[in-house]
Amino acid sequence: MRDENCIFCKIANGEIPSATVYEDEKFRVILDLGPATKGHALILPKEHFDDVCQLNEVYAGGVLPLAAKIGRAMKQGLGCDGFNLVQNNGEAAGQTVRHFHMHVIPRYAGGPKGIAAWEPGSADSKELEELADKIRTNI
Ligand code: 5GP
Ligand code: ZN
Repeated sequence: MRDENCIFCKIANGEIPSATVYEDEKFRVILDLGPATKGHALILPKEHFDDVCQLNEVYAGGVLPLAAKIGRAMKQGLGCDGFNLVQNNGEAAGQTVRHFHMHVIPRYAGGPKGIAAWEPGSADSKELEELADKIRTNI
């Protein structure tokens, strides 16, 4: 299903031009207009899903192998030393476009460090067990 008001639906289906690096019947992979590093790409499904919780199994099964394919091509073509897969769900998590997308961010040795990085906090085993229980009982 498409969402007529969604910009990523329009880009994914070719109605708005984009720097496309890959396309098949399910996905379009484009370069991000506000890249974290040189070559930062976005994997867009051609159908509309708000976030990963809505993604159906066909698209979910396709996105990770495609991310690996793009990452491999980045290492070959851009000479990056690694890459991050980043996927935001919900405003609190930094999602600004409500159409599922996966970021593929090339990483260069000596490049910016502040991408997909956090300062490790701390937690004792009682707290970890309580938190685990809250998630476990809702799966
Ligand atoms: P989010 O924050 O939702 O995970 O990521 C949205 C990303 O989409 C951002 O990195 C932003 O730069 C990118 N973006 C937003 N609008 C456009 C657009 O019209 N074209 C392209 N190529 N990227 C976009
Ligand atoms: Zn959409």
